[in-house]
Amino acid sequence: MSDSMKQRLDAIRMRMAQVCARVGRDAADVHLLAVSKTFDANAIREAAALGLNAFGESRLQELRDKLPQLADLDLRWVLIGHLQTNKAKDAARWVHEVQSLDRLALAEVLHRRLQDEGRSIDVLVQVKTSPEPSKFGLDPADLPDFLDALKGFPALRVKGLMTLAINADDEQAVRGCFRRLRQLRDEAQAAGHDDVRRLSMGMTGDFEWAIEEGATDIRIGSALFGVRDYAPH
Ligand SMILES: *Cc1c(COP(=O)(O)O)cnc(C)c1O
Repeated sequence: MSDSMKQRLDAIRMRMAQVCARVGRDAADVHLLAVSKTFDANAIREAAALGLNAFGESRLQELRDKLPQLADLDLRWVLIGHLQTNKAKDAARWVHEVQSLDRLALAEVLHRRLQDEGRSIDVLVQVKTSPEPSKFGLDPADLPDFLDALKGFPALRVKGLMTLAINADDEQAVRGCFRRLRQLRDEAQAAGHDDVRRLSMGMTGDFEWAIEEGATDIRIGSALFGVRDYAPH
């Protein structure tokens, strides 16, 4: 018999606590985002019953399909996938946080759409810390100007940075991505961006390294929900 979701969640929390203890961090400073993309509303309901209330989704279309089925729950929806500018209106209506803010054109449109809705949301700036060509994210060299520009968009509450590490088994390469993000965060703070505190980094395969390198938010999908099926549905 396969493990229950509760057993899997307990195992993740245990591993988080062990890493925190090892490096002298307070476990309360590391938040678990349950990445529910490709998993259905029933799985999210089960996770919510275990006390999780923030869920990461990659595609707004998929989120739209799930929302009506979960309308009775008070959930926080976090967008972690690439956001097309022409979908900004949907994001402005449905999402509580965007972790994939990676370009000025998107910030402008998202801000305008949020103002239309009378809302403001938390955002993290997605930074490209890995040389892999397929990854989205802002070039680190552009971060200082980008953070300055975001001051002009009060509906976007900038809370920190997000990254995807290089997809490799090379521990030092993966850690290098996480360290880079932390260094960029420290530089942003030194430049006066006091609210840029959070570091969203680490997934099922690398979250322990990420916590060691300073992650405040880890994004966990398969370790919690099981293996993903990417087939169309
Ligand atoms: C899918 C996804 C995750 C979770 O991946 P797992 O390896 O299943 O934990 C985390 N972050 C982003 C941006 C994702 O797209």
